[in-house]
Amino acid sequence: MASKFSVGDTIIKRCASCLHDKQTVLKVDPNEFTDKVATRLWVQCSKCGTNDNKLMLEE
Ligand SMILES: [Zn+2]
Repeated sequence: MASKFSVGDTIIKRCASCLHDKQTVLKVDPNEFTDKVATRLWVQCSKCGTNDNKLMLEE
């Protein structure tokens, strides 16, 4: 299953540390469930470098 996210993409997400709102995708980790597909994005703040992750649900 192809994800619409790729390593190196910039996504809009608020950094918990510095509140910068752009983060770079470090890793895309797809997980399939019974009725929906979720993709976990591992991201890094492009300003302060804090690592975070975000679960993206796709219908
Ligand atoms: Zn930050």
